[in-house]
Amino acid sequence: LVKSKIEELKSSKENTANYLLEDYALQKAAAVDAKLQKGEKIGLLEGIPFGLKDVYLLQGQPASASSDFLKNYISPYTATAIQKLLDAGAIPIVKENCDSFGHGSSTENTVFGAAKNAWDKNKVAGGSSGGSAVNVAKKYTTFSIGGDTGGSIRQPAGYNKVYGLKPTYGRISRYGIMAYASSTDVVGPIARTIEDIRIVLNTISGKDYHDQTTYASEAVSEEKVNDLAAAKKLKVGYYRSFLESKALDASFKSSFEDLLKKLKELGIEVKPLDFFETNTLVSTYYTLAMAETASNLARLDGTNYGNRAEAENLKEIYALTRSENFTEETKRRIVGGNQVLSQGHSEEIYNKARAVRDEIDDRFAEEFEAVDIVLSPVTLGPVPNVGETLKDPLAMYLSDAYTVGFSLGGLPTLTAPTGTETGIQITAAKNGEEKVLQFANLLK
Ligand code: GLN
Repeated sequence: LVKSKIEELKSSKENTANYLLEDYALQKAAAVDAKLQKGEKIGLLEGIPFGLKDVYLLQGQPASASSDFLKNYISPYTATAIQKLLDAGAIPIVKENCDSFGHGSSTENTVFGAAKNAWDKNKVAGGSSGGSAVNVAKKYTTFSIGGDTGGSIRQPAGYNKVYGLKPTYGRISRYGIMAYASSTDVVGPIARTIEDIRIVLNTISGKDYHDQTTYASEAVSEEKVNDLAAAKKLKVGYYRSFLESKALDASFKSSFEDLLKKLKELGIEVKPLDFFETNTLVSTYYTLAMAETASNLARLDGTNYGNRAEAENLKEIYALTRSENFTEETKRRIVGGNQVLSQGHSEEIYNKARAVRDEIDDRFAEEFEAVDIVLSPVTLGPVPNVGETLKDPLAMYLSDAYTVGFSLGGLPTLTAPTGTETGIQITAAKNGEEKVLQFANLLK
């Protein structure tokens, strides 16, 4: 299986692979084969080929974040989530194309060339975990591990019609994933079935000494996830402000409303909720995400990691290395982030965004007293054509209208490939993954 999937990736046309881990994977696969030949029992995930977004460290293997900066960088250790999968016997076969450092929504902001959508080569893969979602959709991998800061698992999952889970912040360790915005970065699975999402989630969750924001969680139970009678008793909410957005495609609005109608016919309680305007969510998210990425990427200055430009003195090394090795989009975010953090601006912009975020948190806490699940579209409209997205950065930021709020809240949200052309998001209160997956089963 591992060998055939690597061959499929080699002849694939979607440009999802930054690096194939051929020797590494074949060696691991041979060990599993040997066990099978001896008649030994193997575990559920043993020998299962998976992909990982190219922001994860796997010791001895490249990790580029789809940037020139780290094109020659070799991981010194392995990310906790990936180590847990290795321990379960799963086999990583590919480091997947993504937007550089997670900065983007289309997997076009990458020095490996744009990835293409699984179902239409003229459309984008989505992003930033675009390569991962396409690999799952095309069955090159059984599952992939993506990263989601403001939608990067959920939106490409929707664009390629697979499941993608952004778990609760802190449920899975971020140790060994290159940081974009540390306060909303989460690690999560992309897969073709709810059951696969559940299995991978349970494997990679857990408290980790190396990431002090992690907490211990109970495994999501198969029985509960499949309890449809319980799913029908869940109370569902949706946001008026999301449906009133002028940017929402008319056909998306009507298919989402059809879904709500169907749920009501099933006897499910469905309530409209008042929530923040999407523009408030987008501006709060991008203020904080840019500030955090400017801080996180300050460490890439040519002295410790990755490439170094030739120059006369230290200051020039910093300046040249950073100018030459970051993409335009990443530079825009670093400049924006430093701007909102700088003296005079930080009170006016950064601190204000922090305060709005606290309000968003409070609102979520209140809402999830009244409902179990919030449903929303994943995107405002259909999948863009290749070449459209990067031309207009502001439009790209605004296109994240429905995903970024749940990131600011640290809530678990699943994209399910149903409800609209690019799927729907199912969100619960913190640590409510079981309810999310249970409800997803009802919509299958
Ligand atoms: N598109 C969003 C951004 O560019 C989300 C990216 C992500 O989740 N990594 O910030």
